[in-house]
Amino acid sequence: MADWQTFSDRINNVAPSATLAVDSKAKAMKAAGVDVIGFGAGEPDFPTPANIVDAAVEACREPRNYKYTPTAGLPELRRAIADKVLRDSGYEVAPEQVVVTNGGKQAVYESFQVLLNDGDEVIIPTPFWTSYPEAVKLAGGKPVEVFAGADRDFEPDIDAIEAARTGRTKAIIITSPNNPTGAVWSRETIRAIGRWAVEHHVWIISDEIYEHLNYDGAKTAYVGVEVPECRDQLLVLNGVAKTYAMPGWRVGWMVAPLEVAKAASKLQGHLSSNVSNVPQRAALAAVAGPLDDVYMMREAFDARRKAIVAALNDIPGVVCPTPTGAFYAFPDVSGLLGKPLGPNGTVCATSAELAAALLDEAHVAAVPGEAFGAPGYLRFSYALADDQLAEGMRRFRQWVG
Ligand code: PMP
Repeated sequence: MADWQTFSDRINNVAPSATLAVDSKAKAMKAAGVDVIGFGAGEPDFPTPANIVDAAVEACREPRNYKYTPTAGLPELRRAIADKVLRDSGYEVAPEQVVVTNGGKQAVYESFQVLLNDGDEVIIPTPFWTSYPEAVKLAGGKPVEVFAGADRDFEPDIDAIEAARTGRTKAIIITSPNNPTGAVWSRETIRAIGRWAVEHHVWIISDEIYEHLNYDGAKTAYVGVEVPECRDQLLVLNGVAKTYAMPGWRVGWMVAPLEVAKAASKLQGHLSSNVSNVPQRAALAAVAGPLDDVYMMREAFDARRKAIVAALNDIPGVVCPTPTGAFYAFPDVSGLLGKPLGPNGTVCATSAELAAALLDEAHVAAVPGEAFGAPGYLRFSYALADDQLAEGMRRFRQWVG
């Protein structure tokens, strides 16, 4: 490549999304006729509920939806999201504090673009969702990982967080229920992080996209509820993808202090303008409607969760803590590394090699822990059909031998 042809350092420093990469490789193998079982993608296998689809169909026929609409979102949807915050989290926000984004992902991206200057540090409890560090780097920031492993059920340690704090610490991320671990952090942990952030003037980004997926009596704790004093420095991120089985509709949002919301909207005004109106109308039907469908899905996920955790722990060399949220299991597979596996006696040195061999040889797709800052683990999404789940686990076990 000639000098003039090189791309920016900014883009060269970004890692591709490993979860999307595994998913697209699995889908390509499927398209080529290979019977792959996909535990890769974090998307519900349920169809979007019919009343939401109906709202979209109707919206397609309404000329007002053919126009540009306000960048920060349809006023009705912003209002419904503010009402939803009151319903689920029990505190009041104004519709003006809401910015509707192209999926939760864009809300993550905009948060860091708004808050960070070059060299500002963001504490990222690890294992982390794969896009956070890249979004931080794209904003000129520096991701600071604070790890908590299976030995503590992936619950962050406030002393370790404090030890990572420097004069440049600008923000911290909370993700509970968590992707990739499925952990629901305790009320005490959420409270400790909130109080710590208030004391040290650190912004909080609370990603609550899995809020309604709790099991075994676990309950999502909201930092804005536990530590009301933090609301002036709190950005809550959310979306319809997981709660209403709508990943492809691409509607998310940010609820933030007014000035932050205005700044994010200013950025979005140059980046993408309003989110497509038809999906916004569908999201309005979803957010303003009841949660019956998510509770139905939650029941199905719960049965699969129990099945996958039992199956994983039944494989020698695999240790899987019981997740109580989202739809992921995150087993420690370090016991399989360095040992001959499968009919060819393949030896894997890392979980990345293990995931590749599992896909190539057993046709089972899982995402390596490396994608989440946690080598030695694999992430299995259990948002797939029961028979697929059982067959995938049978293959994994048989391959390990
Ligand atoms: N946050 C977390 C923790 C996620 O797992 C995801 C999706 N994988 C998102 C945000 C973004 O979701 P979307 O852009 O599909 O709304």
